[in-house]
Amino acid sequence: MRIGIYPGSFDPLTYGHMDIIERALKVCDKLVVGILLNSSKNNLFSLDERVEILRHCCREYENVEVMSFGGLLTDYCKKHKINCIIRGLRAVSDFEYEITLASINRRLAPDVDTVFLMARDENLFVSSSVVREVSRYNGDISTLVPPHVAEKLKAKFS
Ligand code: ADP
Repeated sequence: MRIGIYPGSFDPLTYGHMDIIERALKVCDKLVVGILLNSSKNNLFSLDERVEILRHCCREYENVEVMSFGGLLTDYCKKHKINCIIRGLRAVSDFEYEITLASINRRLAPDVDTVFLMARDENLFVSSSVVREVSRYNGDISTLVPPHVAEKLKAKFS
């Protein structure tokens, strides 16, 4: 059985992330969406809020599990018998960072492969930081995030 993990901050979840989740389900039998416990980042949404948002937006996918995790991703993979790491690639600018990460992860866990996926054109340049910026100034984010996320953002900035 191919169990994948899609790690990220998801602050907040976007249609870019949803696109990658849907694609990942075609290559994995089960997908863990792993929300990083990253204390160094100044997050807009708390960990609990991000877990709730992801669980709500993924509720129709029965083989998706939403978890939070800290520590090394490869340790989490070994502990939970996860054999592939899913990452999304946007622009060339993502590539250098992602290839470094994939190379280190392979050194730490040789049996765990990193699989890179690309979102469809209209979601390709959607990022959480753009969403945070547009919604801070009350801009239209309906094409960038699912309605549930848009509601939460509206409440956050109202
Ligand atoms: P960031 O790394 O910018 O803080 P996340 O941690 O939430 O964003 O992203 C998790 C993963 O999702 C990363 O692999 C990132 O490249 C990918 N991703 C995010 N948005 C998109 C998108 N629009 N298209 C493809 N991949 C994406």
